[in-house]
Amino acid sequence: MAEVLAEMKLVYRATGTAAVCEGPRMETPAEVRTLGSLGAEVVTHAFAPEVFLAKELQLCYSAVCYVVNYAETGSRHRPFAAGDLFGGLMPKSEGQRLAGTVAAMSRIVGQVAAAVATAAKTCECDKTMSHNIRAYGLSDDWRKWFPA
Ligand SMILES: [Zn+2]
Repeated sequence: MAEVLAEMKLVYRATGTAAVCEGPRMETPAEVRTLGSLGAEVVTHAFAPEVFLAKELQLCYSAVCYVVNYAETGSRHRPFAAGDLFGGLMPKSEGQRLAGTVAAMSRIVGQVAAAVATAAKTCECDKTMSHNIRAYGLSDDWRKWFPA
């Protein structure tokens, strides 16, 4: 996936640690600082439960996301500015960059999916349930785990 993003000349990070919080409320600055101290690089309301479901179905999972705010943490990225998060308060240049990213997302996902479909498999995602398959005598095909 990283190669595709590089070829598209996008600014990206190929790996990272996400902390998933329950939305729709925004995390407090203290919560974000705590999650950051635990290793989170991104705080999101996405990725769960779909990442767990993918693992249980022995499917590969990858996320493409973009940062829309810095959680008002007073971080090195942006000083804290009360109320400077929503409501058109995002600087116009960032809003335009975000709109460009959103507009490009379908092209990004399409190119990444095409690359993944032809890439050599290097993971063992299709074996994540091997223990349970053996223990419970399940089919190797998860589609047969449930009655029709
Ligand atoms: Zn995989």
